[in-house]
Amino acid sequence: MSHEVVKFDLVSLLSSLGESLAEFENGFPLDDFAKGHYQQHPFVTLLTCCDSRVPPSMLGDTFNRVFCVENIGNQVKNSEGSVLYGLLHLQTPLMIVAGHTECGAIKAATSDFASEPSALVNELTTVKSSLDQACSGIKVDLATASPTQVQLSELNVDVQIDLLLNHAEIAPLVQRQSLQIIGVMVDLHNFYGEGYGKVYTVNVNGEKDVEAIKQMDKIGVFAAKAKRLPK
Ligand SMILES: [Zn+2]
Repeated sequence: MSHEVVKFDLVSLLSSLGESLAEFENGFPLDDFAKGHYQQHPFVTLLTCCDSRVPPSMLGDTFNRVFCVENIGNQVKNSEGSVLYGLLHLQTPLMIVAGHTECGAIKAATSDFASEPSALVNELTTVKSSLDQACSGIKVDLATASPTQVQLSELNVDVQIDLLLNHAEIAPLVQRQSLQIIGVMVDLHNFYGEGYGKVYTVNVNGEKDVEAIKQMDKIGVFAAKAKRLPK
């Protein structure tokens, strides 16, 4: 695993963070918070990659709106308890699984990661097993690497949604329509051909057919955003 490291000037960085913290404190939405009895009432459980180019703020203001679960490669199994907390206890009516292009975790999982620290090996092993499952679903061998990295990222989102749909605690929520699960791909690098930084709907409650998703009338803008990479 290699990554170009940028040097930061920590002193000026910390002073600029002071401005960000002041902005948060000064803009703290106390009235809304009090109306909700100072509790949290998020509308969405977001499972996304930790990648800093995929910010939860793509869903708007995150305060008391987005219950965000992040790990490398957006894996249900590596944060299953947190996902369950959002769905079973906070009862968000929406779950979004977000993958993205040029995902370092997908790249690492398809390379040799055995010499990494054990905690990292554990998480990458989960990512690798998701990719194996994705490839067996489309009947290709991961070792021969016929799918591209970005295809793997897209298929990885499908695998996470399948896991949720087959989860004993979560499946009933979807069946009685108290939970909608949407899979998106954040196309940071214009692989889908409509520009850098676009978001596409790739999966809705297990439905992966783009034309079928486009016909869904209850998912708002997510219907028009349906797009998948050509197989
Ligand atoms: Zn990533």
